[in-house]
Amino acid sequence: MKDRTLLMIPGPIEFDPAVLQALGAPTTSHVSPDFIETFGRALERMRDVWCAPSGQPFILVGSGTLAMDVVGANLVEPGDRALVLSTGVFGDRFEDLLSRYGADVTVIRTEPGETVDFEAADRALAGGDYKLITGTHVDTSTGVRIDAERFGTLGKQHGALTILDGVCSVAGEEIRQEAWGIDAVLTASQKAIGVPPGLALLVVSQNLLCRWGKRRTVVANYYADWTKWLPIMASYEKRVPSYFGTPAVNLVCALDVSLGQILDEGLDERFARHERFGRACRAAIEALGLDQIPTSADHAANTLTAPRYPEGVKGQDLLPKIREAGAILAGGLHPDIRTEYFRIGHMGATNAGDLLATVGAIEAGLHACGHAFDLGSGVAAAQSILFG
Ligand code: PMP
Repeated sequence: MKDRTLLMIPGPIEFDPAVLQALGAPTTSHVSPDFIETFGRALERMRDVWCAPSGQPFILVGSGTLAMDVVGANLVEPGDRALVLSTGVFGDRFEDLLSRYGADVTVIRTEPGETVDFEAADRALAGGDYKLITGTHVDTSTGVRIDAERFGTLGKQHGALTILDGVCSVAGEEIRQEAWGIDAVLTASQKAIGVPPGLALLVVSQNLLCRWGKRRTVVANYYADWTKWLPIMASYEKRVPSYFGTPAVNLVCALDVSLGQILDEGLDERFARHERFGRACRAAIEALGLDQIPTSADHAANTLTAPRYPEGVKGQDLLPKIREAGAILAGGLHPDIRTEYFRIGHMGATNAGDLLATVGAIEAGLHACGHAFDLGSGVAAAQSILFG
């Protein structure tokens, strides 16, 4: 019997074999002509995937939290006002992070499952001189998606820089960074970008770089300082050797392959696929009689689904049974509701077969835990959307 369990958590995810093959190739020098070409091309491809033709991309060794930290370190000077729109754990992370750099932070926090109240954000911005606003496109702790286009517009209306945490959305949910006026969109490699963990990725606008250039103080975080990294990114794009800190050579090679695959699929097709998979998974969960954390399908993420455990079923019993049936899922993360729900990731290279096998494994687990439902009803509901 095949000893392979599907990894269906909201990152890291199942990766494409060609991406893993690139990762396993012999490591080359970070200044070899082949690698310079690969790095330069990956930067160019990022602009296309982010839909930010005049944006400045960065590829750094690190995780999504580092991408958040880099933005905070470079933008915040003591006393700057920041508005954090929080829809969960990762929104809250910005409050802590920006405060470290001396920001005066206001948080508009929603109940778990609710999306951002843009009218409240608008009122807050009208009442203060905010330098920046942060939003979490998909908060992985709640499965809630915010309206990223409206987020960009809000920033423009109030002259505030917009920082979008796209860790659980870039290359899965629709983002048009430049058209929507978003100043920074950051992510990590291990989610819908489709590369094993280890890269912090971000694209920032020229408007943001211009504000950054007017800093009065030196950037307090040595590694994060764009003064160090801008010449490196520019050199790779000009295809000339340069060095500040050693890049994750193999991961960058894998990134280049994955970005190529994303562009070959086509962004419109990719966003539509994720939207279809999101709908299919939510329909399956509903058919099995489970509620979900997002309070409306209109603001439910398409990259993950967050079902509540049914009455009488506990995560510590259900999740191991689902795993035995073939799929690794994640438990709850939001501290207020941690034991009440679980999370299913379905992004990046996930295909219809993976999703159906996962729904089948969930059915097997629920059945073993004594939850009453019609066996096969979840799979049928997902199929009617995937193939209907
Ligand atoms: N933001 C969001 C929305 C996330 O989902 C995560 C990771 N789950 C992070 C930030 C932090 O990323 P990392 O774990 O790669 O540091």
